[in-house]
Amino acid sequence: MKSVRVRFAPSPTGYLHVGGLRTALYNYLFARKNNGKFVLRIEDTDRNRFVEGAVENLISALKWCGLDFDEGPETGGKLGPYLQSQRLGIYQKYIQELVVKGDAYYCFCTHERLEALKEEQQKQKFPQAKYDKHCLSLSKSRIEENLANRIPFVIRLNVVPNQKIIFDDIVRSRVEFDSNNVDDQVLIKSDGYPTYHFANVVDDHLMEISHVIRGEEWLSSTPKHVLLYDSFGWERPIFAHLPLLLNPDRSKLSKRQGDVAVEDYRAKGFLKEALVNFVALLGWNAGDDKEFYYMNELIENFSLERVNKSGAVFDIEKLNWLNAEHLRKKSNDDLLTMLRIEILNSQFSTLPTGRQVLNLPDAYLLKVISAMKERVSFVKEYLSNSPYFFEAPSKYDESSVLKNWKSETPDQMKKLYESFAKLNTPVKEDFEASLKETAAELNIDAGKLIHPLRLAVSGMSSGPGVYDILVIIGLEETQKRIDKAINTISVI
Ligand code: GLU
Repeated sequence: MKSVRVRFAPSPTGYLHVGGLRTALYNYLFARKNNGKFVLRIEDTDRNRFVEGAVENLISALKWCGLDFDEGPETGGKLGPYLQSQRLGIYQKYIQELVVKGDAYYCFCTHERLEALKEEQQKQKFPQAKYDKHCLSLSKSRIEENLANRIPFVIRLNVVPNQKIIFDDIVRSRVEFDSNNVDDQVLIKSDGYPTYHFANVVDDHLMEISHVIRGEEWLSSTPKHVLLYDSFGWERPIFAHLPLLLNPDRSKLSKRQGDVAVEDYRAKGFLKEALVNFVALLGWNAGDDKEFYYMNELIENFSLERVNKSGAVFDIEKLNWLNAEHLRKKSNDDLLTMLRIEILNSQFSTLPTGRQVLNLPDAYLLKVISAMKERVSFVKEYLSNSPYFFEAPSKYDESSVLKNWKSETPDQMKKLYESFAKLNTPVKEDFEASLKETAAELNIDAGKLIHPLRLAVSGMSSGPGVYDILVIIGLEETQKRIDKAINTISVI
């Protein structure tokens, strides 16, 4: 097999879409698995759709996901430049070759003529609008005259009718198109820029791309590309068209149904490991039911032969689950770093009372991490699910108050307070023994103290074991919170 060189070729029209990430990832995995090269090429020849800052966004999203490229706009490489807008001279040279051969031709049709043609074809119920080769018959001298008179023109691909266009695709096997359904595609636009089809083929050839791995939406463009390769006499790359990404209702994945930009997932606190793992499974599996993968395992296991043909459903629940799994597998030290960043980005960095939270010692945060690790799916949930580790509750869960805070509770809590006051640097078991003793003295069930106690120290009705909470916040804070609850919670 010749050496593997693959490329991700986005158009800089906005953010990196999860579908784009999937394409980039499969190219990356394939390159790494086969000791090949992963090239980033920016297809920016459609000046109308160009978005300022999009290239930088794309690159930073790819880098965040750990998809580093071997050649590309920032990195450089032996077959650059890697921005198509910097390669315009190259396309001009190659298009002339096709014109001379008769496989491409000048077209001077006006916008009005093309519109009228389209309308007529619609009336006649053509399955799709197609150029009628009107300019193919122009004489050489007429073409030269038009060019000399600076009449605007495009250059089109000359598709020979009544042929079968056949190519192989790793995912879809043998694919066949009827050339009667292939339009005489514009290759060079009236502004002199190449279209996607032309620039894409010229560059894939010149950049020595061995495998073209891209979304299924490009499958219908491939016959045009194949004609171009054949016309130039260039070896075709191996094609692999990846299945569509679908919403759970099997419609095409779209922004309307939720986030589609990688940066949105990043902003929501998804881990890059989880996003990459999730996206890898959108159309590929290793042939077993393993779902949890790190990048190195994906590289080891990936193969294009195991990419499915049928659409891949984007199931956000699975992404949430993978996030929780990846988060739990992180070391407590890594989680500590992440939690500190989360605290810095939280309301605590602006609140006057927040300084204390910013200065919490590592040992304290590590205890919070141990208590909550199995109960969170996102780093931010350390703050939202257990705010009581960072500040005393200011409100109390209403339904738990109704259920657990009875008229006799304040007195019972006072007794508990007094009993706790006798403790000296208590551990979990000391708190537990003290509570049980108090319950026995009051001749009540321990639950009658445990639930109001949880409410008093956390404001919530669930969470880690109540004694774990007490040990983490400490005796003094526990007493303060019991006292505050007695004075704040009103009895219905
Ligand atoms: N520029 C195309 C895109 O935006 C590339 C398609 C291809 O990979 O050939 O997706």
